[in-house]
Amino acid sequence: MPILRFRGVTARSFARTFALLSLAACSADESSRPNVIFIMSDDHAYQAISAYGSTLIETPNIDRLAKEGLRFDRAFVGNSICSPSRATLLTGKFSHANGLRNNVNVFDGEQVTLQGLMREAGYETAVIGKWHLKSEPTGFDHWDVLPGQGEYYNPDFVSAEGTRRVTGYVTDIITDLAIDWLEQRKQTAKPFLLFYHHKAPHREWWPPLDNPGEFHASPSPEPDTLFDDYGGRGTAAREAEMRISDHMGLTNDNKITPENAAALGHMPFMDWYDDAYRRQFDSYMNDEQRAVLGELYGPINAEFTELDLRGDALTRWKYQCYMQDYLATIRSVDDNIGRLLAYLERRNLLDDTVVVYTSDQGFYLGEHGWFDKRFMYEESFRTPLIIRAPGDAQRGAARLSLVQNVDFAPTILDLAGVDVPADMHGESLVPLFARDDLDFRDAAYYHYYEYPGIHAVKRHYGIRTHRYKLMHFYHDVDEWELYDLTSDPQEMQNLYDEPGYADVRERMKLLLADVQARYGDSLELARELVKQDLEAQDGD
Ligand code: CA
Repeated sequence: MPILRFRGVTARSFARTFALLSLAACSADESSRPNVIFIMSDDHAYQAISAYGSTLIETPNIDRLAKEGLRFDRAFVGNSICSPSRATLLTGKFSHANGLRNNVNVFDGEQVTLQGLMREAGYETAVIGKWHLKSEPTGFDHWDVLPGQGEYYNPDFVSAEGTRRVTGYVTDIITDLAIDWLEQRKQTAKPFLLFYHHKAPHREWWPPLDNPGEFHASPSPEPDTLFDDYGGRGTAAREAEMRISDHMGLTNDNKITPENAAALGHMPFMDWYDDAYRRQFDSYMNDEQRAVLGELYGPINAEFTELDLRGDALTRWKYQCYMQDYLATIRSVDDNIGRLLAYLERRNLLDDTVVVYTSDQGFYLGEHGWFDKRFMYEESFRTPLIIRAPGDAQRGAARLSLVQNVDFAPTILDLAGVDVPADMHGESLVPLFARDDLDFRDAAYYHYYEYPGIHAVKRHYGIRTHRYKLMHFYHDVDEWELYDLTSDPQEMQNLYDEPGYADVRERMKLLLADVQARYGDSLELARELVKQDLEAQDGD
């Protein structure tokens, strides 16, 4: 075993050296560095991955990555929303430091980025699929991305050559483009970093057309908290506009025609819902696609009209519609990951390539009655993270270390043997490949900013240790929440004012101050950013 030769060095350099040596052993060239394929889907809840114990869906290809790699069970994002999470991947920094705090901000591509550093170090770099950072990609040899959120059917793609429309289903197309790029790479002597980023399963969950009704056959189990009344929580949970009952659209989200919804007296929660539904059929789908979807949703529309459900019965029915479509988009992600892995095997690339699977954040699948994300509660704060690193001594193991998306950039740089810039907030996860470390991080940090905004989730920051979570909602309310995740994993009872938890509360507040100081964030900075954001909104 080569391990013994490295006794006495630090855990980090040991693990890194071991990982690199193991990788090199698999390669013809002793000096070669691993390729990296970073797979990020959009809004993929860990509750919908069978490697994480899902009761909703089997995901055999993602599970394969977990069986042959490591599954991180306490992986968290710093800001649970699309664009900020992507900016954190590229910079290794929390939102307040990389300048991208919400889905409105434009990413500053002139700052130091992961892909830029990798390119300087001799990697060929590419991003294919979802980008969602508004500014043109920088630091890539090749980029071919969806504009904005992108479309499910016949989407536009933007590259250095301009914009074009591609016929097909977005998840299949992104995979085709990724495989094409791998196949056509000119400089095969260089290792590569490929961001293979899916749009799916982002709202509004339009299914793939090869087996769109797969999840219509049997109902999905309902979460325990589908009818949460938020009694044990504060104002923010009660006022958030992301309930399946009241805020999920019957038309755009559940695919009832605007005419059928209106005929039973249902008005859309927001004006754009019906337009969004019509836009899919009128602007992007072709006749063949319309026909398949007409067959799929025709019986659902007939059932909707016949049952004429109200109240909790309608919420239950909407939840089933939601799961049918959401899970179908994930089926396609999983199938396509299988296709990519098969390609890597066929080209003998799999043993030279680190494959990461993650999502830009978690998502609510009916827990607390919600869809969407944004809160620091577990379902959206946590994100799936699986790393298949060839040569790793431990395969199929799970990790409980507290890790965050600020760690992605340092990890990839570490794997490539590139120095991690001192101002990145994250740490390399490579030491965790060899063994778990519950002291890896004392607390995961969180700060959400997009308020006022869609879904009305109030601004908040907080920390999570292995056992406790402390949150502060600081704008237009001043409310704290404290949860004991051991006794209350569903976070139903705020313990902030419980006398029995006074010591925990004070300790957590001290730790929060320490963590904020470490990262250069503070309530004062948060208040200044509120002012800036509100002024910018007024100027729109
Ligand atoms: Ca997202």
